[in-house]
Amino acid sequence: MKICRFNGGRLGVVDAGLVYDVTRVLERLPPQRYPLPQKDLLIEALPQLREPMRQAMKGAQCHAVGTVVFDSPVANPGKIIGAPINYADHLAESKADAGIAHGRKITSIGDWGLFLKAGSALIGCGQDIVLRFPDRRNDHEVELGVVIGSVCRQVRRKDAMAHVAAYAVALDMTVRGTEFQSFRKSIDTYAVLGPWLVTADEIADPDQLDLWLRVNGQPRQQSNTRHLVYDVARLIEYASSFYTLQPGDVIMTGTPQGVGPVLPGDRIEAGVQDVGEFEIRVAPAYAGESAAA
Ligand code: MN
Repeated sequence: MKICRFNGGRLGVVDAGLVYDVTRVLERLPPQRYPLPQKDLLIEALPQLREPMRQAMKGAQCHAVGTVVFDSPVANPGKIIGAPINYADHLAESKADAGIAHGRKITSIGDWGLFLKAGSALIGCGQDIVLRFPDRRNDHEVELGVVIGSVCRQVRRKDAMAHVAAYAVALDMTVRGTEFQSFRKSIDTYAVLGPWLVTADEIADPDQLDLWLRVNGQPRQQSNTRHLVYDVARLIEYASSFYTLQPGDVIMTGTPQGVGPVLPGDRIEAGVQDVGEFEIRVAPAYAGESAAA
């Protein structure tokens, strides 16, 4: 099942090029009181909501996929987890390109660990990426996004995949520099998730998926998740050895070779096999002077 959020908070099911508006299913979510939980209620309830969503498609208002504005398909992830240097070929380019490494010694994901991206950085593909710091390199990174469906902590890799709710295409945008990843990769709009979620039952093997990225029609990245250093199950095992993972937590699994800069006005197309593809615009101007000061 392909599930999206669109047009400023509406819920949709995507089928055969159409978005079915099933927003009324959200009324089934439990009422919340302060303090709100650090998880995504829709993702947590997904197993129970699939049949009601299917029912709600009957007679639902429909839109062509190309006519809606996609929001992030996860509204409230408690955490967005990033995986650094997790493809061998990206590891090699990071060692070879001083513009990526900035003097850091590039070692391994087992040495560096994971990083967190701020929730305030998250957008859907219907919004613009707004670049900051015109004097620095702002790079694209296409990645497979994994959405956690149920609570897990210290999970073994053999049990890890049972905790995956869905997949999406992710962009881990980054400004290159000397600061830690969590700082550089958490700028507003530097975490893109889209266009929709594909539920885990539709992906036979997440470690065998092509992924690609083009800028203004020019190929930049092209690889397959079989080249991940830590595969999806290992990433869940690794992350959950430090953090309790909650429904709606997102793991951006790492990027292959071919990262490179984007500039205002660029058009990025990014996709993952069997998951989807989106086009997103880089805003025509950098964020305001006050933000860059
Ligand atoms: Mn990345």
